[in-house]
Amino acid sequence: MSTAAPLPLRCWAEIDLAALERNLKLIRASLPPHIRYVAVVKADAYGHGLPQTVARLMHAGADLFAVANITEAMTIRELSADWPILLLGATLPEEVRYLAEYDLAATVSNSEELHRFNDAGAAASKPIAVHLKIDTGMGRLGIWHEHARQLYDQICAASGVRLAGIFTHFASADDDPAFTAEQRRRFLATLQTFPDLDSRHLFIHADNSAGLESTPGNGGAFNAVRVGLLQFGVLPHPHSLLARVHTEPVFSFHTRVGLVKQLPAGTGISYGRTHTLPQDSRVAILTAGYADGIARASSNRGFVLIKGQRCPILGRVCMDQTIVDITAVPGDVQSGDPVVLVGRQGEAEISLAEFSVWANSIPWETLTTVTKRVSRLYKTPLGI
Ligand SMILES: *Cc1c(COP(=O)(O)O)cnc(C)c1O
Repeated sequence: MSTAAPLPLRCWAEIDLAALERNLKLIRASLPPHIRYVAVVKADAYGHGLPQTVARLMHAGADLFAVANITEAMTIRELSADWPILLLGATLPEEVRYLAEYDLAATVSNSEELHRFNDAGAAASKPIAVHLKIDTGMGRLGIWHEHARQLYDQICAASGVRLAGIFTHFASADDDPAFTAEQRRRFLATLQTFPDLDSRHLFIHADNSAGLESTPGNGGAFNAVRVGLLQFGVLPHPHSLLARVHTEPVFSFHTRVGLVKQLPAGTGISYGRTHTLPQDSRVAILTAGYADGIARASSNRGFVLIKGQRCPILGRVCMDQTIVDITAVPGDVQSGDPVVLVGRQGEAEISLAEFSVWANSIPWETLTTVTKRVSRLYKTPLGI
């Protein structure tokens, strides 16, 4: 089979790698020069595509990659044999043997995990790198801060592991500055109980994207940040004011008009007829639906951009199709016309944060629920 032209796309995401690179540099420039950059690229780099994203972040000088699991780490290992990688999730007992094989740093939260890592390091005759995680009030991974000293001592005494970092995670960095400050205080107080702590050889990190806002000007005791969402140019809420760094969106989401039709007032639209046209209307049927990542929750609620105009979603979003009102769009809308779901079109823009509100969701979830059938088109790759 040989067709000259590639199949036209019905729904796709555009990933602007040059914007990603600029974002990393902007975030770095906003921080003291000694602060290292941990790029969080779990979940297929927040849906942006892991290999492409990581390759560009390597080029931009990320110091360490943080992923959720070994499969993701192995994808990075195909690009670099020795770039530091941290597994943010708990390591399952059967996964431990891959730590040495792929030279991965594991998160350690208790002495049971430590023993497993230590045994694996001894068996491989190569110490396993670990980042000690301290629970300062997130209630997820990590050793409760009041008990951290003992685990620290055990790590220092274990010859099969090598302490490579110490970190904590904020529970409410984007909406509770007082509690974030308390977590920061607990973390620093815990570090002070560790004897012989030589942080020069360690990654000491706490701040995620939102935490960056309150990072002390000199970095304080921290020497690394752990950035996910912000490097992709996304804010947690439509009205977040991240005063410190203005990154640009890397991701935009697109579909097309499949069909245009005129319908009389009183017509019920889509499954369940949850919307009734109040007037004679022109509608467009789009070639994407919830199986692409347009949340069903945005039925009768969300908007799309056509010819630079906001057009409301009418009725329920379907699996492969979505119906929008184009009555107010001036000029001719035709089958094939481009539609923006997230991003800019002319003067108009729909932010990912706004799209996420319509979906009853948050940008992290929205990005990771854009489905596999949505092609990712990489704009501005290197070497062009
Ligand atoms: C996902 C994650 C991050 C990144 O958070 P953002 O808010 O996306 O910057 C940082 N640390 C941990 C432990 C995470 O799980």
